[in-house]
Amino acid sequence: MPEAPILVWFRQDLRLADNPALAFALREAEGRRPVLPIYLWTPAEEGEAAPGAAARWWLHHALADLGTQLSAAGLGLTLQQGETALALLAALLEQTGADTLCWNRRYEPSVRARDAQIKRTLQAREVTVRSFNSALLHEPMAVLRDNQAPYRVFSAYQRAADRLPKPAPVSLPALPTVTPREQPRGMALESLDLLPRIRWDAGLAATWQPTLAGGEARLQRFLQQLESYGERRDLPAEQGTSELSPYLHFGQLGPRQLWQALADRPGEGAAKFASELYWREFSYYLLMHNPQMHRAPLQARFERLRWREAPDQLAAWQRGQTGYPLVDAGMRQLWQTGWMHNRVRMVVASFLTKHLLLPWQAGAAWFLDTLVDADLANNAQGWQWAAGCGVDASPYTRIFNPTLQGRRFDADGRYLRHYLPELARLPECYIHEPAAAPPAVLAAAGVQLGRDYPPPIVAHREARERALATYAAL
Ligand code: FAD
Repeated sequence: MPEAPILVWFRQDLRLADNPALAFALREAEGRRPVLPIYLWTPAEEGEAAPGAAARWWLHHALADLGTQLSAAGLGLTLQQGETALALLAALLEQTGADTLCWNRRYEPSVRARDAQIKRTLQAREVTVRSFNSALLHEPMAVLRDNQAPYRVFSAYQRAADRLPKPAPVSLPALPTVTPREQPRGMALESLDLLPRIRWDAGLAATWQPTLAGGEARLQRFLQQLESYGERRDLPAEQGTSELSPYLHFGQLGPRQLWQALADRPGEGAAKFASELYWREFSYYLLMHNPQMHRAPLQARFERLRWREAPDQLAAWQRGQTGYPLVDAGMRQLWQTGWMHNRVRMVVASFLTKHLLLPWQAGAAWFLDTLVDADLANNAQGWQWAAGCGVDASPYTRIFNPTLQGRRFDADGRYLRHYLPELARLPECYIHEPAAAPPAVLAAAGVQLGRDYPPPIVAHREARERALATYAAL
């Protein structure tokens, strides 16, 4: 009689290496008990933490890749979908005779509440339920002030977190040799319907290899140029950052693995990169300690801010038709590739919340649907920072001038020319501000404003003054 199987529930930890839940299951199994990896697609109950359209595209390919890796290791991946994970898990436990379930933790409020309920219910039915940390260097409750209150300022948080020892990646024990009495019933990946029906994903497929091999290749490329990260990370025309955010979000690579890769590489680039990993940790930390952060401003007085309603302007921003080239190039990069450079994310977010005075939640929702790295914690933190209402946000008087940001970080207009081909023939001195170009220059570049490219939808100076007055009224 084979011993009871162990279920390993994969979630945002789509990897075999450094996977504490999988490692625990394999250790417990000791080669005698079957280990059954499962993935459950239950977007309805995950609410705001469920992946948007671009992230679903990524998830499809990441699951296919995980399935291949698990099969090669002698473990299959069972996929199921339903309304609630609890109902699916209860049926799986019943069907397979498993008595143990393990997973790696997630930190979104709706998921945490769901997971707590699953744990309570199944433990009451005498199922052994174990959860682990795979997603963070330090979990949010591990970094607190002396009075046990959470930090609210990034630099203090980083100093405290930096003092803690970093756990090494978890190694994988021997793989099991037994197969289960009964394979759980699963469904084909295609039937989860994660890919778009109208195939708008060609740009994503041309940009990304959403697999472990793709992540490892990006990591190796990035490590070779780590030294120049500090200087090049703000230049959107360069591939100066790691572009690992979607791999981190889906857990194809984990932060402990990245930390280990930095270990024997001292220098400014490595220190700056470590600091960005801490920003990711801080976002999760803030979301855990402020479970409304994806909806409500962290500084309560911003609840009173009188945002405008302007559906046409929101649509112009989404489509990259604002008449401000850096904003438009960023929004088109997002639409075409499912990703946007961090410097440009800050500029487009500032433009929406300050120049247009449209609510940051509208911008955050668009990002969550269109980014392949859409992440509830990082996104909310980024938007609140840009809107000025976050705990550690830039002061509201700091309003990015999108034209000057373009001149400074894309001086020769290479990034603009790539994403705005209609402006490609404008000379450097005018590509950042086509509306200021003399008619002869526009004609020579084949640009007719209003036909090929819009004039600015708001004037910078007036928009800036309106934003300052509105914010000051708080
Ligand atoms: P790198 O510079 O190589 O950094 C390495 C890793 O550190 C990133 O992959 C990411 O996990 C983390 N990181 C870097 N910068 C930040 C940051 N400012 N905040 C939190 N983590 C960071 N990041 C997301 O992963 N998902 C989002 O949905 C998201 N939305 C954002 C929205 C706005 C308005 C802003 C301003 C930023 C947002 N960011 C988001 C943070 C940041 O822009 C991206 O993480 C980064 O651009 C990803 O590119 P990279 O992997 O090349 O970054």
